[in-house]
Amino acid sequence: MSTSLRHKSVLVTGASKGIGKGIARVFAHHGAKVVIAARTAAEGEATATELSQAGGQVSFVAADVAQRADVQRLIATVCERHGGLDVLCANAGAFPACKLSDMTDEAWDGLFATNVRSLMLCVQAAIPALKASSAPRIVVTSSITGPITGYPGWSHYAATKAAQLGFLRTAAIELARDRITINAVLPGNILTEALVGMGETYLASTAACVPLGKLGTVEDIGHAAAFLASAEAGYITGQTLVVDGGQILPESPAALTA
Ligand code: NAP
Repeated sequence: MSTSLRHKSVLVTGASKGIGKGIARVFAHHGAKVVIAARTAAEGEATATELSQAGGQVSFVAADVAQRADVQRLIATVCERHGGLDVLCANAGAFPACKLSDMTDEAWDGLFATNVRSLMLCVQAAIPALKASSAPRIVVTSSITGPITGYPGWSHYAATKAAQLGFLRTAAIELARDRITINAVLPGNILTEALVGMGETYLASTAACVPLGKLGTVEDIGHAAAFLASAEAGYITGQTLVVDGGQILPESPAALTA
């Protein structure tokens, strides 16, 4: 276990549940001071309480990361609570399904605001605080969907997740001048509360498509994020780390049974 995250000030957006909650749990386990953010206060407060009762130092801030004023207030609150910001985990995101034939301007633009504008807003607002850190890090939660794979109903989602990586590659160069690294984790199918709700049959058939034979856990993504935020990853920037149990590898379904 890396000790370099102990006492670090960490912000995880979209962490009232799902992958963000797993990321927050892992950072808290490493001894970091964690602020989690989401829009729904009751859920966020409950998650902060749960993670704190498990021994972590975790608190909640209600914020919509697609809104500039909310993001600025969020970063300021983190700095007030923990004396600065060392690690930004830009994880918040949404994935509503919508077939291309039904796509509207509102659905398209709304998802870009949630998944892409939010990333720019969070990174931009965090720069002054990160510049003051001795080991500043940004970790983005992208996806295999878009950068590598596709799935009907998610053309807008896939486009946002690929856009995040385009942003990341130029941001990495601009931020390097201030020693800030920015990297992305690309999760495959991860067992979140929402996925569990799809039922056993769905889970089993999805797991059967993964060479490692199971779905990922939210902590699997948390461990990858913690590595990219650690001192040991200090010379890595502008890169992506796929965490998918080998899901993207088979050339065809036959590859899994050959
Ligand atoms: P989730 O379970 O639906 O959780 C999403 C979190 O983001 C919630 O805390 C939600 O809380 C928050 N959120 C959504 N919109 C927000 C906004 N505008 N401002 C602030 N918080 C917001 O989703 P998830 O599956 O954990 O996904 C998290 C990230 O992982 C996303 O970026 C997603 O694209 C990526 N991902 C997920 C998977 C997967 O298998 N689950 C695979 C690949 C990539 P509120 O609704 O209360 O705001």
